[in-house]
Amino acid sequence: MIGILERFRRWRRARRLDAVTVTDEMWERAEARLPFLDYLEADHRRRLRELARAFIAEKQFYGAHGFALTDEVIVTIALQACLPVLRIGLRAYRGWVGVIVYPGDFVIPRKIIDETGVVHEYDDEVLGEAWEGGPVLVSWHDEADAPEGVNVVIHEFAHKLDMENGEVDGLPLLPAGMSRKAWAAAFSAGYELFCRQVDAHEDTALDPYGSESPAEFFAVASEGFFEAPCLLQEDFPAIYEQLRQFYGADPAAGERRVYGEPPQDAGVESP
Ligand SMILES: [Zn+2]
Repeated sequence: MIGILERFRRWRRARRLDAVTVTDEMWERAEARLPFLDYLEADHRRRLRELARAFIAEKQFYGAHGFALTDEVIVTIALQACLPVLRIGLRAYRGWVGVIVYPGDFVIPRKIIDETGVVHEYDDEVLGEAWEGGPVLVSWHDEADAPEGVNVVIHEFAHKLDMENGEVDGLPLLPAGMSRKAWAAAFSAGYELFCRQVDAHEDTALDPYGSESPAEFFAVASEGFFEAPCLLQEDFPAIYEQLRQFYGADPAAGERRVYGEPPQDAGVESP
């Protein structure tokens, strides 16, 4: 039996959802900005739209620094924000409502006190930030000046999932059937390798920012998982496998379906 309060909540949610209309044209326009959505199966594409519509109904979007939010911006952000919760659903994003959108990078004033008690204040230029129990801050870039190889929305919402079980440490709440041990083994080996690659200034499959900490590594691996899945699978197969189970999708298979098999490294060529 459900109580009056729960019944009221459901009624209110349904009312809000009814108020959100996204036309087919608007879906298509937003999805055209996100070509990697083609890597998803057809039923996942449908579910992503459903989740995004509910996300728009439940969350509040604000434009910061005078940024004028358009429907296209909101729908594009909502679609990407819902990728990490394709399997889990929106309950993973309970407890906060705000999505704050900045026109480009923005500055967050920081204050830290070092071990000698000295206070350091500085400005941190960022693309996004997720606050525990609070809003998610993201920057919006026009296609022309979007930072290469970075997906700030997927990144920040992956952090939100990481926060679901407390500490932001690169270990989110795993579903039944997944092993924390296997997760930790795959991610710690991958993180070590990745840090070595970054230190050696090698070209990396993921944003080098991921070498900051295991939490950032999980967030950039999540970006790679959805945007460049074959590359992630090739360089970090064990991590790809963990994320495949965690996110409940197999975008590398989708990428191969869309583009065909990637060319093999031709080690020996016949004359
Ligand atoms: Zn981050």
